[in-house]
Amino acid sequence: MVHARKDAARISRLNVDLHCHSTVSDGTLAPAELVERAHRNGVAVLALTDHDELGGLADARARADTLGLAFVGGVEVSVTWGGETIHIVGLRVNPEHPVLNRGLAATRAGRDGRARDIAAQLEAVGIPDAYEGALKYVGNPKLVSRSHFARYIVETGKCPNVASVFTRYLIEGKPGFVAHRWAALDDAVRWITDAGGTAVMAHPGRYRLSDLTRDQLIRQFVDAGGRGIEVVSGSHAPGMERDYLEVAQRYGLLASRGSDFHGPNESRHDLGAVERLPAGVTPVWHDWPELERLSC
Ligand code: AMP
Ligand code: MN
Ligand code: MN
Ligand code: MN
Repeated sequence: MVHARKDAARISRLNVDLHCHSTVSDGTLAPAELVERAHRNGVAVLALTDHDELGGLADARARADTLGLAFVGGVEVSVTWGGETIHIVGLRVNPEHPVLNRGLAATRAGRDGRARDIAAQLEAVGIPDAYEGALKYVGNPKLVSRSHFARYIVETGKCPNVASVFTRYLIEGKPGFVAHRWAALDDAVRWITDAGGTAVMAHPGRYRLSDLTRDQLIRQFVDAGGRGIEVVSGSHAPGMERDYLEVAQRYGLLASRGSDFHGPNESRHDLGAVERLPAGVTPVWHDWPELERLSC
């Protein structure tokens, strides 16, 4: 329900952060710590969107409730589409929903085997014991990700930071890249919508797609029931919000905003510390009941 006294422009300019990660996936802060940091940073509405996991939502919500921070449950689903990995964020999902839980469990299932294959490749280039090394950084044994390997590679001294790891290792064509089949796009959108959530295309500016292919991706996403797109993302280069403002308008998609924060020492953008949503699009949060709790 739209709050009658808040005009659309004001709602659109709120410091809403709808994309971040905790130790339940590949972030470095526990869910409650993440919520505390968002609160300190002046975030008005926060969504936790761990990769393929809902396990942090209860702790995050409990802490948000004690702080009086508006919180929505989220998830970032890994999808394989046309040979590319695409991420779909689900917002305001019911974390108890069986269809979503089953889908995410299936999506997570291949991660451990993949991690062992990644470690074998790294061993072949002189980085032994990377599986055990990555596990030291893992908060949730069901969710071993490339980020955990990246932290271990930094620890070995092979690279100075996580960002530089992703130029020399773990990416296509480099050691430690293991092709993996994630969820199908239509399935991911359906799990999210079945669970009462809104499906949002994450960081569209990060996919290496031609304009034509990107058009096909977004059309299929919309046909499957996708409703939103990240116009402002901490994973985008500066200025990209103008491109995705235009994309949101063209496809009639709601606009989302998220830092994609993973941790204080890793992310370029802190929680809430990205550009405000530009004018000319409808924020995905425009009609959320969570706005009722805001004092502004
Ligand atoms: P995975 O789901 O195991 O393939 O891991 C993907 C994660 O690796 C992403 O969610 C990011 O957190 C991280 N990642 C991927 N590419 C980069 C990059 N270029 N720089 C920093 N982190 C990256
Ligand atoms: Mn990540
Ligand atoms: Mn992502
Ligand atoms: Mn993310």
